[in-house]
Amino acid sequence: MELRLYDTLSKEKRPFVPLDPVNVRMYVCGPTVYDFAHIGNARPVIVFDVLFRLLRHVYGDKHVTYVRNITDVDDKINARAARDFPALPLNDAIRKVTEETERQFHADVDALGCLRPTVEPRATEHIAEMRAIIEKLIAGGHAYVEQDHVLFSVASDPRYGTLARRSLDEMMAGARIDVAPYKRDGMDFVLWKPSKPGEPSWPSPGGIKVEGRPGWHVECSAMSWKHLGEQFDIHGGGIDLVFPHHENELAQTCCAFHRDRMANVWMHNGFLQVEGEKMSKSLGNFVTIRELREGWAGYAWPGDALRFAMLGTHYRQPIDWTAKALDEAHKTLWRWYGDIEGVQAASNVADDVLAPLADDLNTSGMIAALHALHKAGRLAEMRAALAFLGFSCDLPSLQRKPVTAELRTSEASDQVQMQGTAAPSKQQIEQFISERTAARAAKNWKESDRIRDELAAMGVILKDGKDAEGKPVTTWEVAR
Ligand code: AMP
Ligand code: ZN
Repeated sequence: MELRLYDTLSKEKRPFVPLDPVNVRMYVCGPTVYDFAHIGNARPVIVFDVLFRLLRHVYGDKHVTYVRNITDVDDKINARAARDFPALPLNDAIRKVTEETERQFHADVDALGCLRPTVEPRATEHIAEMRAIIEKLIAGGHAYVEQDHVLFSVASDPRYGTLARRSLDEMMAGARIDVAPYKRDGMDFVLWKPSKPGEPSWPSPGGIKVEGRPGWHVECSAMSWKHLGEQFDIHGGGIDLVFPHHENELAQTCCAFHRDRMANVWMHNGFLQVEGEKMSKSLGNFVTIRELREGWAGYAWPGDALRFAMLGTHYRQPIDWTAKALDEAHKTLWRWYGDIEGVQAASNVADDVLAPLADDLNTSGMIAALHALHKAGRLAEMRAALAFLGFSCDLPSLQRKPVTAELRTSEASDQVQMQGTAAPSKQQIEQFISERTAARAAKNWKESDRIRDELAAMGVILKDGKDAEGKPVTTWEVAR
């Protein structure tokens, strides 16, 4: 079976030829652990899990190394730690935030049927490799020290911009360039910066006397180098990472190791939006994996249904995450799981299912092939294919449980967790919501707004949406 993959760098679909078939190597940029992962973050996790499974099928389970990092040093983590645990020393607060977020991330992606990667390196455990890369870049004239910062000199790398396919002028126009006194050129990016008092800090490279911390991009160059070598097969992530993150990783790695390539294939998943709109906290349509699992659009959704809904769209296309599509995905799987119950799985995965996958991970084609197997009554092969794709095939666990009020991610117990003020209980919030629903039904907008404002004053934000059947529902979350 010939595997073909689309490469963002060359902009073409090419046959995949591993550098070493005995050790096929893939790196995917993982989460920055400061908050619950949202359903957009789940997309690369699911997409590259399917690719990992396919590579293992083709080259053997022991011959694929999949590295997905955990970014545990970042300004957003520091800010969240200071906000959530103001009484703790910052480093302890950071540990609390990163450990808890990592635990939740694992629980979420396990529920989505994703295998754990072979290695999950943490940035904080690879500072020595980051320093080594930075020293190489300075020695090679690709980086310079200025005001206790180390910057990558974009002008020193003639290839810069080839991944994003933009000229320097276009990049200058498109990127928000920080004008900083320590930059010789606006496009230069930070490899290392000094830490503020109390922030995580390590001895600096480049002869800098004060301690500091790495920039984001160099973290991935260091972790991929450590676990996959100077050059490897596949580098993946969401399309938003092409520029500047992957462009910068590519520049750092190639310049540090005098290579013309970092990964042979660059793969990027398209973006996910929710009910036709860009997902954002201010629009109130921000959906975390945990919310979907515990209560969204009227139900607590099983991970298998979320996975199936995600695979309904080709990974390079944008995907619109809707309650309707999720409902349909759930119904299809429900029918299939019912029909394959008690059926012994075939020993092989049918070529009908593998062929579309081998064509640049055409998962919608793969689902069409599953429909055809179902129609033809080839249930043993269906079961084998579904299991291979990471589906549990377990009918009882596919039950979606109706929920009255949606659980928002900030709740851990019955008492809503809020800092400072007295928190209302879930029952109280639900009471307010049902009063407001009655006011809305009576077109008493003044009263309905009053209740919304009263709850907002208590730190509870209401969101009006539709359930899977299209009926209006009001959900709530704790203001963050
Ligand atoms: P972040 O934590 O924002 O760095 O994102 C982690 C991963 O999720 C990256 O591969 C992103 O490209 C990806 N990602 C973030 N938001 C979305 C989205 N709305 N749709 C698809 N992928 C996303
Ligand atoms: Zn990365």
